[in-house]
Amino acid sequence: MAARIVVAGGGIAGLSAALLLARQGYAVDLVERDGPPPKDLGDVQEWQRPGAPQVRHPHMFLGLFRHLLHTRLPDVHEDLLAHGVDEVDMTAPPGVEAPADATELASFGSRRATVEWVLHRALQGQAGVRVHHGLSVREVVVDRGRVRGVRVNGAVIDADAVVDATGRRSPLVGAFTKEVEESPCGNVYHSRFYRLLDGVPKPPTFLVPVVFAGGAGFGGGLYAHDNRTFAVVFARLPEDEALGRLRETGTFEAAANAVAQFEPWLRPGSAEPIGDVVPMAGLTNTWRELTPDTPSGYLPIGDVLCTTDPILGRGASFALAGAAELSDLMGRHGADLEAVGAGLRAYVRRTVRPWYEDGVHDDVERTRSWRATVDGRPEPPSGLPPAVLTALAGQQDHHLWELAQLRANLMASPDSLDTPEVRERLDAVLATGWEPPVLSPGPSYTELTDALAAHNG
Ligand SMILES: Cc1cc2nc3c(=O)[nH]c(=O)nc-3n(C[C@H](O)[C@H](O)[C@H](O)COP(=O)(O)OP(=O)(O)OC[C@H]3O[C@@H](n4cnc5c(N)ncnc54)[C@H](O)[C@@H]3O)c2cc1C
Repeated sequence: MAARIVVAGGGIAGLSAALLLARQGYAVDLVERDGPPPKDLGDVQEWQRPGAPQVRHPHMFLGLFRHLLHTRLPDVHEDLLAHGVDEVDMTAPPGVEAPADATELASFGSRRATVEWVLHRALQGQAGVRVHHGLSVREVVVDRGRVRGVRVNGAVIDADAVVDATGRRSPLVGAFTKEVEESPCGNVYHSRFYRLLDGVPKPPTFLVPVVFAGGAGFGGGLYAHDNRTFAVVFARLPEDEALGRLRETGTFEAAANAVAQFEPWLRPGSAEPIGDVVPMAGLTNTWRELTPDTPSGYLPIGDVLCTTDPILGRGASFALAGAAELSDLMGRHGADLEAVGAGLRAYVRRTVRPWYEDGVHDDVERTRSWRATVDGRPEPPSGLPPAVLTALAGQQDHHLWELAQLRANLMASPDSLDTPEVRERLDAVLATGWEPPVLSPGPSYTELTDALAAHNG
């Protein structure tokens, strides 16, 4: 058994890996560059997380995340529900009773900081883990092809294995990387958090727990989160200067107020902002291949090997799934860290790579269509993407609903809807004269930019 493990990075992947490995009996040092979470959950919004700036943006936790949390870390799942996270049952369309044999499926929206706060709470009571805050791992120490530890601010922490969970900007993986594939996601985020005032009902749920806006030229949504918080988000093309002004608080608020379907939660007396408008740029889809002579004991998980577009809300699920896979491999291979590393890489190629390719394809299509709209040559509606159409048709045919939701929640493969059965069922729904409901009644890109121009004089 490899006795000593350093987990570098305490985001979703690192925190869950540290918990799972300590529960298997390993001695774990978790090293995180940022400071510890606040004592009280009520102060979590002020927690400074410069090492993971996406913590300040809304997060959807898909069915795969919820399933893994429930099955692998049930106490953490329970604690999360006890601390203000509400799940949304996705097994059947809203108002429809799920068939008895339906696969259990739920997802939730939550501030990332709340999820991490609960994971930290579990670590505090966990034997076998030491958590070091405010320390940066600089380098993996290697000797004769094997990991010996990590260099941390001048000192060395000895270890037999290093779990690299330092995220998409990992300072460690470069030393072992053979090839990098990288393409821009083609969007910049602007988001802001609010808290509902007493008596104001929470936003509803449809397909995913969000109220949609946009679709052509930009994206937007209102996401219900934990403890009666919610977030408004806009996504725009990086080169779109008109929407670039969304970074300004007044312009952002004008845009949010231009979306009629957000009005019940943004009208005066409904909610108060609990943070600034924050941007997120420089987003890429990234895939890294490691060199064949990567040292035994170097074990990357989460965003390190594969980063996907946040607009699809998949990264946190892959982070937890990577930690769970690592834990299984350690259980199976123990001291054979070469086998653990090979197993981990095979898992990422088999399970995550198809979603990476799916996301890159979607981003190319979306970027092309948004650009056409922004350039003033909007394309005729090309119809909904098949996965969305199938999910909507699922309100008529509940088996289609289940299949579409399993895929959307990463619990079936990207090509799982590409079957004769799904096509036949979809055709049967369309043959009844059914038409998909309008997902986003507006505003259009022009209406939104006009509203911003009017606001900015
Ligand atoms: C704007 C935005 C919105 C997103 N929304 C969603 C969503 O809705 N749903 C979803 O599933 N995913 C979403 N994602 C993706 C998701 O946040 C990531 O996939 C996920 O955070 C990956 O987890 P991780 O633990 O691998 O990395 P991270 O969460 O990035 O954690 C890495 C950790 O390592 C620490 N660290 C870094 N360097 C060092 C070092 N040298 N030494 C020690 N510690 C270090 C960092 O401080 C950080 O705590 C979003 C991403 C972005 C950018």
